[in-house]
Amino acid sequence: AKKQGKNGFAFYEDSLSVPVQHRADTERLLRQALDKGEFELHYQPQIHLATSRVTGFEALIRWNSPELGQMSPDQFIRIAEETQLIVPIGDWVLRTACEFIRTVHQKGDNAAIVSVNVSVMQLIDNRFVERVLELLNETGLEPHYLELEVTESMVIESLDLIGDKLDRLIEYGVNIALDDFGRGFSSLSHLLKLPITTLKIDKSFIEQIPDNQEDQPLTGLIIRLAKDMGIKVVAEGVEKYVQLDYLKKYECDCIQGYLFSEPLPAIIARDWIKTASL
Ligand code: C2E
Ligand code: CA
Ligand code: CA
Ligand code: CA
Repeated sequence: AKKQGKNGFAFYEDSLSVPVQHRADTERLLRQALDKGEFELHYQPQIHLATSRVTGFEALIRWNSPELGQMSPDQFIRIAEETQLIVPIGDWVLRTACEFIRTVHQKGDNAAIVSVNVSVMQLIDNRFVERVLELLNETGLEPHYLELEVTESMVIESLDLIGDKLDRLIEYGVNIALDDFGRGFSSLSHLLKLPITTLKIDKSFIEQIPDNQEDQPLTGLIIRLAKDMGIKVVAEGVEKYVQLDYLKKYECDCIQGYLFSEPLPAIIARDWIKTASL
């Protein structure tokens, strides 16, 4: 929402209070950034708890703008969505992530998957499914090595527009993860009926795991319920050993978080140790 500030400057309240002028600059620079090759993907390892192995990487975009400096996605993804620039940017992200995981496989680790955040704008596009299949074909990646992350609000609000597409992608073997679970308000049983193969438990939930583990079966119940339905569970934002212990105890499939590694540039992620010391 746009709000008139004291001095007559307009601010967007819900966009980190970025002044409009700054937004206009960001938009202009964002338009050129793809052509100029200013985007980069970092990759955060996901560790499979039962084997302590890195079995996946989440791709996270970075923008190194000569004019604005290093920008985090929270500073520009929304603007990219509002201006539709997210469609070509998202396409670049998908291709780059697929190429990355191919190089990981060529290095000998041929089980790792890559997980890519997609925006609702991309999914609503009628050519999206074909585009994903085309990119898989062009990069020579089998569909089950790709996971697409969608959020609860996206799926709930646009189910009639994207539900079929998610179903089709799953039929082809692409994994669909429900990102940020726990931030929204839908019931878990409702969410688990959506076309998803993976549940990512938001870090706000992981943070609530207390030091005294006896008191807190909630996250454990979520894990069990999802797994009973054949859905893989990934815990996000794992920073502490008490959280790791808890997640192991409740047999969470995978963890992702600073405890093991922050998101890494491609060349470092590719050569990253294959076995976690957790
Ligand atoms: P997300 O998908 O929930 O990604 C997880 C965020 O948590 C990342 O922030 C990651 O760096 C951060 N993180 C990872 N481990 C920890 C931890 O242990 N503790 C804490 N406090 N944070 C941790 P990042 O990279 O700044 O990305 C922010 C958001 O931007 C993402 O949230 C995602 O919604 C969006 N985003 C990132 N890349 C893309 C992209 O390529 N396309 C789209 N559409 N959105 C993207
Ligand atoms: Ca994500
Ligand atoms: Ca998330
Ligand atoms: Ca998110």
